[in-house]
Amino acid sequence: MATQWYFGEVSSTDFIAPNTKLIRLTLPSEVDFQFTAGQFITLDLPVGEKRLNRWKSYSIANAPTDENYLELCVSKIEDGLGSTYLVDTLNVGDTLKFKGPEGTFILGDDNPNEIIMICTGTGVVPFRSILMDKLNRNQFNQKIHLIFGTRNKENILFQQDFESIKAKFPSFDYTIVLSRESDWEGAKGHVHNVYMEKYATKTEQRQFYLCGWSKMIDEAVVNIFLKLGYSRNQIIFELYGNNN
Ligand SMILES: Cc1cc2nc3c(=O)[nH]c(=O)nc-3n(C[C@H](O)[C@H](O)[C@H](O)COP(=O)(O)OP(=O)(O)OC[C@H]3O[C@@H](n4cnc5c(N)ncnc54)[C@H](O)[C@@H]3O)c2cc1C
Repeated sequence: MATQWYFGEVSSTDFIAPNTKLIRLTLPSEVDFQFTAGQFITLDLPVGEKRLNRWKSYSIANAPTDENYLELCVSKIEDGLGSTYLVDTLNVGDTLKFKGPEGTFILGDDNPNEIIMICTGTGVVPFRSILMDKLNRNQFNQKIHLIFGTRNKENILFQQDFESIKAKFPSFDYTIVLSRESDWEGAKGHVHNVYMEKYATKTEQRQFYLCGWSKMIDEAVVNIFLKLGYSRNQIIFELYGNNN
């Protein structure tokens, strides 16, 4: 079957942290684009001829219950062709071509497990979609702990959204871990310290969802699987790429 491509118009593009933008794509009203929270789309960007350069995937940041628009959250990577285009060049009114949705990094409603979400930087994006979707549908009957790591306060993403879920649902826990902030009373260091301590006692009813770049994911898999002794099928991850 031929790939179906869609076109969305950029209706807003805002810095939500230094080098990180939230981009809203509005879809034509006749387009019925359905996705499951946690999935991603692939953009065909005007950044050269090679498919490898042009086709870049981005997790969808908003909930599927939001009608006719998609949000993407993109961090500019030094010398990165696609992310530099999206953060520095793209304007309101521009059109983006994309295909999808794709991906199996989703959380079914009937998942009986306690969920530990571990991410750094834009790795938080699919979790934002999943959690906003649960919030919109009042579906917080399982224990979920989001552990988000970044360097300093200015790089914290979607904090208000997660704080408001935490205030409403006692089953949801949220920990921000900062690695390079001196003025911070919360957790310091890396995401790994938090789950290694809190989830050191193994149980079968627990799943770890990891999202981000290879450095963090590789380390987390080693920690959870080899050091803490959880089974391999208790670890589910979405890999953004290799930054080792
Ligand atoms: C399923 C999926 C979902 C994704 N979702 C998102 C998302 O929601 N938001 C987002 O910003 N990105 C996301 N990405 C990553 C995105 O697809 C691009 O790879 C990213 O934007 C870089 O593309 P680029 O063209 O700018 O860089 P390229 O020109 O492709 O260069 C990127 C390369 O730079 C290297 N690199 C150097 N420094 C770093 C660093 N600090 N971090 C990472 N890589 C580094 C890596 O080797 C990487 O391969 C996702 C990737 C996948 C596969």
